[in-house]
Amino acid sequence: MFKRLLYVVFAAFSITVARAETLDDDAVVARLATEVLDRVSAVDDVEVAAFIVRGDDGTLSLAHWPNRHRFREAQWTGPAPAGVVAIIHTHPHRSPLPSTRDAREARRLNLPFYVVSRASLCVVSPEGRLRRARHLPWLSRSKSKKNDVVRLGWQDRGVILT
Ligand SMILES: [Zn+2]
Repeated sequence: MFKRLLYVVFAAFSITVARAETLDDDAVVARLATEVLDRVSAVDDVEVAAFIVRGDDGTLSLAHWPNRHRFREAQWTGPAPAGVVAIIHTHPHRSPLPSTRDAREARRLNLPFYVVSRASLCVVSPEGRLRRARHLPWLSRSKSKKNDVVRLGWQDRGVILT
């Protein structure tokens, strides 16, 4: 029996980024993760992916990858949009952690890879360091209270071996 590769995100391009950027605004990261999660259907084996892009005015938004409804796979071909600072994609809730292939792609592209599922939000840095959010705003009961400060409570989980 061979082991199947699951939850693959593969970008058929390479981009040069001067320095991997830390997305340190938890409220923005939470908003973008929620936006990606909203595109996942009830069957969460179909992967959804997007670039996180910084616009000229400094705001972060998503540039969605085409949704081909492939089983546990998302792919982007062609040039990456300008201003890419990270990649975010979904995993099934049963498999919340970034894969070793995610870590390899993060290193190859020199971009943080965010992985979101209904019950988890993780990020793997280009150096292979895994962090996981302790608090997920979309699970909290007191939803969308004005002036709520969003703190994801990132927890360092060490290095993914690649
Ligand atoms: Zn993945």
